[in-house]
Amino acid sequence: MTGQRFRRSRRQFLKLTALGAAGTAMASTLSSDRAISKSPPTGSTLRASTGDRLRRMLADVRRALRKPDSERRWIMVIDPRRCVGCRACVVACKAENVTPPGVSYREVPEVELGLYPQVNRIFMPTNCMQCDNPPCQKAAPEGAIVKRPDGIVAIDYTKFTSREAFEAARRACPYAALYWDDGTFATTGTPSSPQPYETRTFYEYDGVYARTGGAPPVGSARKCHFCVHRLEAGLLPACVSTCIGGAMAFGDHNDPESLVSELLATHRVIRVNERAGTQPRVYYIEDELPNVRRLISCTVCHR
Ligand code: SF4
Ligand code: SF4
Repeated sequence: MTGQRFRRSRRQFLKLTALGAAGTAMASTLSSDRAISKSPPTGSTLRASTGDRLRRMLADVRRALRKPDSERRWIMVIDPRRCVGCRACVVACKAENVTPPGVSYREVPEVELGLYPQVNRIFMPTNCMQCDNPPCQKAAPEGAIVKRPDGIVAIDYTKFTSREAFEAARRACPYAALYWDDGTFATTGTPSSPQPYETRTFYEYDGVYARTGGAPPVGSARKCHFCVHRLEAGLLPACVSTCIGGAMAFGDHNDPESLVSELLATHRVIRVNERAGTQPRVYYIEDELPNVRRLISCTVCHR
């Protein structure tokens, strides 16, 4: 182990040790309805069934669609206490966007805390943060990444075809949210490759695609776009509508009646790596997660 690696490991070790007590408290709240219901003062929101929340968010999205693009502010609010680590959202996302091996718009890292015997784990669902000040855009070729009026950070597959430019944008993103579609299939190397589910047509942004013949998005950068094609059809992002725990809320922050506005107004929230100045649009509820402000950092999830 080099000195530098050792110092980093030791820092991580000390950080996790310091977080041990906090982790114990977190674990006791993760699956506890009683703990969830203690969240002031929105017990009714957090106690609402996942189905009720989905119905409310669908209504929120459809209300937002009646406004001009520039008057909507799409955001996501994630409650780690509700995440059970099933990764159904990851599968739903892969199926929705037909992403190849090594490309996952969405990940649910497991964060380990503490020192034996006080060890715990939490799940941290994550995806592109749709930053309001996206460094990926500055590093990408002109027009390859655009910030839409509704806040979604979109890729133009026809302009983001340089692997070198992709590497620059990937390095600029503090959240490791960009991927390269190299055209492989999960079945590559087998006698029956590719399978129809790997070459079927699918929708992203305002286009229809199929991963055949090297056509885009093969040979381009890819990332989460809040399922903009579903939003524009009045649907929720695939991950949100699939989440069995109701861990994610989605909607229009400019609408005071929306669930996301209510959650932001009534809970302590943080955004990951705010010091980078990227102004992410994904928020994490930190109620009853002591010291979570120190916990949620890129270095914990991306060791
Ligand atoms: S999370 Fe990364 S890829 Fe997404 S908008 Fe921010 S900088 Fe760009
Ligand atoms: S579907 Fe929901 S509960 Fe399951 S891993 Fe994803 S965010 Fe967590």
